[in-house]
Amino acid sequence: MPTTFQIAVFNGDGIGPEVMAPAVDLLRILARGSADYDFEFEILPAGAAHFAKAGESLPQTSLDKARAADAILLSAMGLPEIRYPDGTEISPQIELRKELNLFAGVRPVRIASGALTPLALPTDERVDFVLVRESTEGLFHTQGCGHVGQDLAEETLRITRATSEKLFHFSFDLARQRKATGLGSGRVTCVDKANVFRAFAFFREIFDDIARAYPDITADHAYVDATALSMVQNPQNFDVLVTENMFGDILSDLGAGLMGGLGLAPSGDIGTDNAVFQPCHGSAPDIAGQGVANPMAMILSSAMMMDWLGNKHKITSLCDDAHRLQSAVDQVIANRNRLTPDLGGKTDTIGCFHAVKAAL
Ligand code: NAD
Repeated sequence: MPTTFQIAVFNGDGIGPEVMAPAVDLLRILARGSADYDFEFEILPAGAAHFAKAGESLPQTSLDKARAADAILLSAMGLPEIRYPDGTEISPQIELRKELNLFAGVRPVRIASGALTPLALPTDERVDFVLVRESTEGLFHTQGCGHVGQDLAEETLRITRATSEKLFHFSFDLARQRKATGLGSGRVTCVDKANVFRAFAFFREIFDDIARAYPDITADHAYVDATALSMVQNPQNFDVLVTENMFGDILSDLGAGLMGGLGLAPSGDIGTDNAVFQPCHGSAPDIAGQGVANPMAMILSSAMMMDWLGNKHKITSLCDDAHRLQSAVDQVIANRNRLTPDLGGKTDTIGCFHAVKAAL
């Protein structure tokens, strides 16, 4: 009997439903070919359009069902014209991170052979590193409740020992797993600004404490500004980078740029009990409804979900199929002829889905 996983699906706003449909179809195709696993999907309401209609961004029933699911798929949420009275946007994807305590934002930066990177890499050079972004505190701590006066606005950056310890353990465990599978050299770099801010010196001290429990993994530090430069000049030197929320927010878009664009950048927001897999891009309202959104980042996020479920439940074929899906996407990109307009191609979302399906 296959293990059936309950998957909560947030279709979200803008291009969200357009990129989610191909990803779910590919998951169904893979599950049909497997004797080991199956998926059941439940679509849950949330987002800016839902807020405009129903007055709530993330209904309690959606949150409860997402919490009870084996994994959560989310496309993108938010629409610039729908806002709270204080001017901030409806962002249930950030509420979910806090509600489910998804402290580790995993943002892989992978430049495979034939990738669309703007970097001039030697042909045999491979880039494969992971940025782990703390996703529940840092400079997002006062999100939505920062102080705004007549002539002054203030937000608070919060670093806690409890969350930092979990974050660093997660990062070192990930480096161990990558080393064991030949993906990484076994190195974790703490990215901070400890030369200027006491909060980051505290972050770094906790990192050094946790590093002592992983003598098989190299631990080092880098300042965030220097890291931005190195990501462009020497990205092949990184393995696992771990950083604060806002720094990670910015660096992960830089990582997406290195891979060829936002339409190719997947992510996982992972906690102790729950995990949300979603592309790094937003709801792209400028192209919503045109059928030309790039589904690759959502498909790659689904592959991350399969890999996470496979590792968690020790189903090797689920991890193998995750890698097959990832390779199918790589192949379509390397072939260049079935790309969506954001990547310079002429194919629409459905055409891109068929190309990945054929490559599978
Ligand atoms: P965006 O990522 O939606 O779009 C930036 C640019 O990239 C646009 O030109 C868009 O057309 C393009 N783009 C993005 N994804 C694409 C795809 N899959 N295929 C083709 N082109 C794609 O960022 P934005 O314009 O700053 O934000 C739009 C809305 O999305 C805002 O409401 C924002 O708050 C929200 N947002 C949500 C998330 C999330 O849900 N995780 C992340 C970022 C932004």
